Amino acid sequence: MKITILEPKGYCAGVSQAIEHALKARQENPDKVVNVLGMLVHNSYVIAFLKQRDIGMIDDIADAPQGSVVVFTAHGHEKSAEEKARERKLIIYDAVCPLVKKNLTTIAKEKERGHQVIYIGYRSHPETIAALSSNENVHLYAIKEGVDFSRIEDVSPLIINQTTLNILSLKEMHEDIKKHLPLARFQDEICRATRSRQEALLTLSEDVDAIIVVGSQKSSNAKRLYEIAKEKHPGMDVFLLEDYKQLPVATLKGKKHIAISSSASTPLSIIEEIKTELLIIK
Ligand code: SF4
Repeated sequence: MKITILEPKGYCAGVSQAIEHALKARQENPDKVVNVLGMLVHNSYVIAFLKQRDIGMIDDIADAPQGSVVVFTAHGHEKSAEEKARERKLIIYDAVCPLVKKNLTTIAKEKERGHQVIYIGYRSHPETIAALSSNENVHLYAIKEGVDFSRIEDVSPLIINQTTLNILSLKEMHEDIKKHLPLARFQDEICRATRSRQEALLTLSEDVDAIIVVGSQKSSNAKRLYEIAKEKHPGMDVFLLEDYKQLPVATLKGKKHIAISSSASTPLSIIEEIKTELLIIK
């Protein structure tokens, strides 16, 4: 059995930085409670790694003890969380990915210039929540739902998006918006870590007969890889799994060439474990 591990693999810069921030928060505050607001990154192995180092997770700032430490996640957070954290006198470590922050800065500038923004994203994803709560000038174009165009008064609004979308679907959504707003300005904000992983799946070697996407069911990045693999390689066996224990051994037996793709928050060690296990299956 041939196994190809697709590039890029391992943590993206935003995930590495988020983990560093959380560890720094722990190291610099040895006597304090340290919590991350939500999942630091969408991978249960990373969350377990943090837990082992006494870095917890809360869903609401109100659950953080007064004066404790809170780490904001890589994807961003609802704007009001910052004010609430200050009210509770929390020590803040900001692990928001610089690319997510860049979008928020763009949104703020558009408001200053008197423009509306249409933000394409998943309604319940933290990055979308962060963008929508950053100012009232932002309108959501929700995935599979669209936007209420009657609320867009600007003839040339800026169209931006969540960083981890499907590169193929984004093009279709841009076309849909162009039909309603021909003068709209488009800024594709899918990050390089997301884009290059998806492109690797679009240009697979022809003899690949199964694809394994390694990542969490909660990871937008991983789910988009699975989506693209299914869409572009119909009829091929494609699996989204978090670790080697979930390998569908019976289905993989006899495969000649398996490609392994992985999300930007998947530890390299998990990919290596899967490769080792596949070599045993043969
Ligand atoms: S996937 Fe992209 S946006 Fe998300 S943390 Fe990584 S680099 Fe940042």
